[in-house]
Amino acid sequence: MPNPKFLMCICTGECPGFKNLELWKLINYVRNQLEVDYALVHPQLCVEDGDRFLRDLVKPGEKYVIGGCDPRMQKKMFSQAFKEAGGDFDSQAVPLDLRNLSTEEAAERVKKAVQGLKG
Ligand code: SF4
Repeated sequence: MPNPKFLMCICTGECPGFKNLELWKLINYVRNQLEVDYALVHPQLCVEDGDRFLRDLVKPGEKYVIGGCDPRMQKKMFSQAFKEAGGDFDSQAVPLDLRNLSTEEAAERVKKAVQGLKG
């Protein structure tokens, strides 16, 4: 199976839920230490430019680990863009709630998700 891609949605950078997260430390850990194709940051995937970005990015058959808010919110907000890209959120995305975690806790959650995809 190909490696997943990691997308971090950081809620504009202003959300108190991410105040303890050292963003670049997490991103560099994921891209250097985990089996992902790449790691990237988007400021706000749930608004229009986020939809456009997902429509550009998503390809059928690829897997996306998405760090951000509640997985149910992610499903609600990203499913349509995945569909318009010819993909399917439920089978391709692994949404992770990384709010209110330390950097180490967030890194561990991403690690488990990436490893889980490897089976
Ligand atoms: S998708 Fe979630 S984490 Fe990302 S900007 Fe929207 S509310 Fe914030």
